[in-house]
Amino acid sequence: MRITDCRYDRDRLRLAVAYRLIAHEARTHTIRHCTGLSGDRIRKLYRHYALNSHGPAVRRRRGKSPRQMSYFRRSVEHELQAATLATLLAHCGLLQRTQRLPAPRIEDVACFCDVYEAFLCVCPLSLISFEHAWYLGQALGRRDEFILARCPDCCATWIRDTLDLLPCNCANCRHPASRNATGPESRRADC
Ligand SMILES: [Zn+2]
Repeated sequence: MRITDCRYDRDRLRLAVAYRLIAHEARTHTIRHCTGLSGDRIRKLYRHYALNSHGPAVRRRRGKSPRQMSYFRRSVEHELQAATLATLLAHCGLLQRTQRLPAPRIEDVACFCDVYEAFLCVCPLSLISFEHAWYLGQALGRRDEFILARCPDCCATWIRDTLDLLPCNCANCRHPASRNATGPESRRADC
């Protein structure tokens, strides 16, 4: 009986997470990877969500998911937002688990949604979609080419490309004029 209850709870969590991913406009294959639900089941959830949601309409994104870390270097704001999100992921222990299993645990995906939603509160004008956030978490979880590091000049966390010699400090230090506009306090919280 307890095993049945446990499975029921996990199925409910799986569906709840799938709805959150739909609300964040994650692609079908991302939702399938994160929840283990079939494509057909996800399409039905999309229809149910569209009919019953009272919030803003969600787009159903198609095509390939983001696969370029260069996206997070497009501007100072991209860099700072990526560092903020990565710091939140690291504090919640989500950068240690991403590559250890063939598929993520549903509890970790739920936690990732919590972190991403907290990030949206910190950065309401976010340049980072859920899919970009998921990719960022995967890339940093590998801890090879890209790592979350301390800026040698200001101690803030930033995303460093280990194969590049430059830049050698964070975007905030390279572009001091952006400090007042982007609120460095949130990125220095763990100094
Ligand atoms: Zn710095």
